[in-house]
Amino acid sequence: MSNIIAIVGRPNVGKSTLFNRLTESRDAIVNEESGVTRDRQYGKVTWNGKDFSVADTGGYVVNSEDVFEDEIRKQVLIAIEEADAILFVVDVTTGITDMDEAVANILRRTEKKVILVVNKVDNTNLQNDAFEFYNLGLGDFYNISSANGSGTGDLLDAITNSLDFTEDENDELSNLPHFAIVGRPNVGKSSLTNAFIGEDRNIVTDVAGTTRDAIDTRFNKFGFDFVLTDTAGLRKKAKVNEDLEFYSTLRSVRAIESADVCLLLIDAERGVEQQDMSIFNVISKNKKGLVVCINKWDLIEKDNKTAKEYEEKVRQRFAPFVDFPIIFTSVLNKQRIHKALEAAMEVYENRKRQITTSKLNEVMQEAIDRNGPPSVKGKYIKIKYITQLKTATPAFAFFANLPQYIKEPYKRYLENQIRKNWNFTGSPIQIFIRKK
Ligand code: GDP
Ligand code: GDP
Repeated sequence: MSNIIAIVGRPNVGKSTLFNRLTESRDAIVNEESGVTRDRQYGKVTWNGKDFSVADTGGYVVNSEDVFEDEIRKQVLIAIEEADAILFVVDVTTGITDMDEAVANILRRTEKKVILVVNKVDNTNLQNDAFEFYNLGLGDFYNISSANGSGTGDLLDAITNSLDFTEDENDELSNLPHFAIVGRPNVGKSSLTNAFIGEDRNIVTDVAGTTRDAIDTRFNKFGFDFVLTDTAGLRKKAKVNEDLEFYSTLRSVRAIESADVCLLLIDAERGVEQQDMSIFNVISKNKKGLVVCINKWDLIEKDNKTAKEYEEKVRQRFAPFVDFPIIFTSVLNKQRIHKALEAAMEVYENRKRQITTSKLNEVMQEAIDRNGPPSVKGKYIKIKYITQLKTATPAFAFFANLPQYIKEPYKRYLENQIRKNWNFTGSPIQIFIRKK
């Protein structure tokens, strides 16, 4: 089950700083097209053994005050519809502004859990100033300083208390492969889902399972038996603007988290853009399987090199993860839809693959003998033993005498050797180096 909290509030109150603090990340995605660096909009948090996701409304560019207010209003409405709990951030140094009032007006009317966060309370003197936020009519609030971290422990307790961590027990379906079709608006997600459904409607079962309206549909056709989680907007809610990136990210998040393998649709005419990267980011943070479909391939003028060149470009964008299937589809012309499904099924199997310890040691010791970890400060580094962990996604532990000296590039070598010898296409692999 996924649990998603959304951070809302006007600009400059410290939303991104809080996001970074909660997710303990300082990294950002670089948008190559425009050369600007943007904050990540999605991260995972583990607090006292409980996992949840955080989505920040992110940087958005607007030019006038009116548009601005309208944008924020939309973001708040989206958060109310799509998230499980909302963090509403305000700034103690400015006090309540008109925009804060406007947001509070919307939030007072929702049944969703709202947590009011008064930020920039960097010292105890400022705690007195915070009392004015009772006037927002949202009840109690949390004083924090995203900058120095104070108050964030209590806030994390409040967040985890507001979420529901009981497991879905629902079912016979849980053992079937779960796929999600994700991608930017208009890329063809609904069309692809319809193409699956279209041919034989009566084999479709809707399982309106959870309280959160994620709708799983079971498909048993073409020799495949699988569950598709709908993000496509087949059952669109009309209230908010679909085109907002925040909306499609949040919608994707829930589907991705409940899937084993994601079919990420890319618009052939546009190529991989920022929004595709943020969806990919959610997939990879959750260690899900990946199949990339370059859809609307019918619209591309091609010669015999086009597909190959296109593939190269796409892999470059997702590097260092490059070992995944790329299928050129046209949902319109029903081209390679079956192939996309086959690829998803293969990735599902790859992601479950377990290599026996004896075979693993035999093959990998040879690779290590051929090309050992570089010695550091004259110290000889030896990998003695390798085992695959019993985890949901492939993870390997390498036991070494001096694990701290084995760095990223060598870990990548090990991963590549694993991929060369066994089929893990589409699946992430984790490499751990441990002390022996
Ligand atoms: P956003 O627009 O809401 O995402 O706000 P940012 O996270 O970009 O922060 C806006 C500004 O407030 C930046 O200059 C931050 O360094 C600053 N800021 C954020 N959190 C705190 C805090 O807890 N205390 C203080 N003093 N400044 C903060
Ligand atoms: P969604 O927003 O991702 O669910 O996208 P839709 O499935 O609603 O598709 C958006 C538009 O793209 C519709 O007009 C589709 O007919 C069109 N479309 C979908 N797949 C293809 C394709 O493979 N080729 C072309 N030319 N158009 C497509």
